[in-house]
Amino acid sequence: MFSYRHGFHAGSHADILKHYILVQLMRYLQEKPGALSIVDTHAGAGLYSLQDGFAAISQESSDGIARLHEFIANHSSQVPASLQAYLDCVQIENLESHIALYPGSPFILARLLRPQDRLRLFELHPSEIDILRANIDGLGLAKQIDVYAADGFSRLKGLLPPPSRRGLVLIDPSYEDKQDYRHLELCLEAALMRFATGCYAIWYPVIARRESIALPQRLQAIAKAHERDWLRAELRVENAPGERRLQSSGMFIINPPWTLKDRLAEVLPLLKKAIGINAGASYTLQASES
Ligand code: SAM
Repeated sequence: MFSYRHGFHAGSHADILKHYILVQLMRYLQEKPGALSIVDTHAGAGLYSLQDGFAAISQESSDGIARLHEFIANHSSQVPASLQAYLDCVQIENLESHIALYPGSPFILARLLRPQDRLRLFELHPSEIDILRANIDGLGLAKQIDVYAADGFSRLKGLLPPPSRRGLVLIDPSYEDKQDYRHLELCLEAALMRFATGCYAIWYPVIARRESIALPQRLQAIAKAHERDWLRAELRVENAPGERRLQSSGMFIINPPWTLKDRLAEVLPLLKKAIGINAGASYTLQASES
């Protein structure tokens, strides 16, 4: 427990997929003026330097956001508006065109908050929580953002349903503990019992582990049992020879915006081309029949 530091993976292909989708969910849910209640059950540190610390050691962002940024600079006429919206969120933290800082989900969500919206962040790591608090303090949004040093899995249900009945939940465990798969399912079941119409976004690694292979089917079964629509998007990059990084990850959305599948159908091929590296790159896009 607690060996995972998200800084190693900041700005990676997995972050790009997750945060691109997060931005689309926010944009869609904010089309209506009603207050939005947002929960990030596994927040991380919030903001990451790509030039030093963990990110500089792993260099995952070199093949992720840095590669995407360069691709976009050379193909600016091909950038769909939805992808630009994500890139704008990254750019906010960077004064120049060079990407030196990468925003984690708390910063992406915080920067998109409207005055009526509320964000709750959970983080358990004893060092990450202090960094997260300091980073969030710097935003000056204390009235809208609460940071808890607590277990996001067990605390989520107590926040549901939100008073406005409009909510977005990101569940983004590290899966360093095999129990995370089980805790995720229990957490999601309890959340859907209380707030079936909420929008839930779950990130997962696509790895050769029994629990991981089974997860998308299990999430589909949960969505089906609650009569909810779902969408599954996965992006696989082909590592350079000898590289042992995570190659593939996915996002599973319950109650997805009706616009999301079309947006992803446009953007996933572009991401594959921009950051896929070798010919083995691919993507998956599936949704329930609605
Ligand atoms: N959501 C972040 C982002 O996109 O920038 C990344 C989060 S990282 C994948 C997962 C984080 O969850 C880690 O910082 C870890 O310390 C934290 N964590 C692990 N178990 C937790 C739990 N039960 N409740 C809250 N946070 C937890």
